[in-house]
Amino acid sequence: MKRFSQLLFSLVLLLGLGLIMGGTTSNFEPKVTNNSSAVWGFYGHQKINRLAVFTLPKGMFGFYKNHIEYITEHAVDPDKRRYAIEAEAPRHYIDIDHYHHDSLTPFEFVPKRWEKAVELFTEDTLQAYGIVPWHVDVMQRRLTYAFKNKEVAKILKLSAEIGHYIGDASVPLHTTENYNGQLTGQRGIHGFWESRIPEFAELVK
Ligand SMILES: [Zn+2]
Repeated sequence: MKRFSQLLFSLVLLLGLGLIMGGTTSNFEPKVTNNSSAVWGFYGHQKINRLAVFTLPKGMFGFYKNHIEYITEHAVDPDKRRYAIEAEAPRHYIDIDHYHHDSLTPFEFVPKRWEKAVELFTEDTLQAYGIVPWHVDVMQRRLTYAFKNKEVAKILKLSAEIGHYIGDASVPLHTTENYNGQLTGQRGIHGFWESRIPEFAELVK
């Protein structure tokens, strides 16, 4: 389990770096839609997954380095199937400020365990406001299982995809109902965050 925790930690660490490191922005396609499931864009996701490989502990690095092109290329698969599979979109965000409580922050108030959250809010509500934290848990369990069974194809697919979901979960605009500043006269801030800032970082590097 320690290895998986390290993998997750490495991915999280690199989320911010993905935006400020070098590389071309020519294939970066910012996507702002009428829900909050769009995030980072292809450039960001691929960069994050690629860089995460270099933070892995020795025992894992060799395996992932050998497959770095796959891990990079398939970082965007969950976004590609978002429009084909109805259940996919809520896996990319959580509008956690929907869950108001008088004395607790939403992060304290919303249960970390899926079953408890369903009990408190119903599954329909959770799906309506996004389920990314719980879906990362699901992906981690699947990945652990794939490693135990030495299923290489599955390990690679799940690794690429868990990197995507963790990348999404790290975006502040994916934790709020005001995901595009539309409630506060700041419409367009989503695109500013995921396209203008990376482009600027590219210019000044
Ligand atoms: Zn996504």
